[in-house]
Amino acid sequence: MEPGVHLKLDGSAQSSVDAYLEYRRIVGDDDNGVLFTPDQYEEYKKNIASKRQENRVYVSWTNSKGMDCKLIGPETKCFCQHRYREHKTDIDIKTAARPLTIPCKKCNCSSYNYIPLNGSQPLRCHCKHTVDDHSPAANHECSRPACNCRAFRTSFNCGCGEVVASHHTLIETKEERFDRGHPVARNEPAYAAMGGITGFSSLLDGYLRLDDSGIGPPSREFLEQPTTSTDHPFLRAFDRHGNPAITDSDRSQTGRSRRSPVQKKTSSNSRSHMHK
Ligand SMILES: [Zn+2]
Ligand SMILES: [Zn+2]
Ligand SMILES: [Zn+2]
Ligand SMILES: [Zn+2]
Ligand SMILES: [Zn+2]
Repeated sequence: MEPGVHLKLDGSAQSSVDAYLEYRRIVGDDDNGVLFTPDQYEEYKKNIASKRQENRVYVSWTNSKGMDCKLIGPETKCFCQHRYREHKTDIDIKTAARPLTIPCKKCNCSSYNYIPLNGSQPLRCHCKHTVDDHSPAANHECSRPACNCRAFRTSFNCGCGEVVASHHTLIETKEERFDRGHPVARNEPAYAAMGGITGFSSLLDGYLRLDDSGIGPPSREFLEQPTTSTDHPFLRAFDRHGNPAITDSDRSQTGRSRRSPVQKKTSSNSRSHMHK
């Protein structure tokens, strides 16, 4: 027997759990911790949630080549230390100023701004103080007494090989993202704070993501072009060592032919190839 507690729910209890989870995905924190009455919930769905499909924005943290190093989900923390869902994620893309911004509901952060962690630890600035010691306002001054640091700086490298400073948080519409050659969701549920989620593996780091649950380029031909010196080091290493694991007979046995590791190019290199 596996250790751990197993909850057994009868059919009706299970469906109330499902209804609650669905409620949470739709309402997020907009009820301020007090459950809506059924009438309020219906109102909310009619007036707020119904507009999410047309106003869907995708939030990603991209490097200088346009690679999605991180797709932002509801729980992903901002530089300001609040989660994406704690920002004003419901915007009207027709009237909103460009570039699109998603300010925080809880502090003076002017727009969602991802900053990676070092493992599970917050990054340290050159002034030795961590991210949360720095102001969430645009200049990110250090707030520690007697520290004269005026801007957060780090030499930390992302998994893509580039330093943090060559990345930025990109907020884009579905159309803009599709035109850029990046995957978008097949269906847009009316859920709060979807950020960059297009499918089940969206929240993995870019170079780990193998997700074909969305729609949009790149094609299989694109994914299978030869690796060049400008490609991600992972791919170059992969090509050097070859891939004995996947053969045609493996493909027919496992049915995983569309999942060859070459597909890692989906996220790592789409931009650089698109512009050749
Ligand atoms: Zn905040
Ligand atoms: Zn923020
Ligand atoms: Zn600092
Ligand atoms: Zn400092
Ligand atoms: Zn990166």
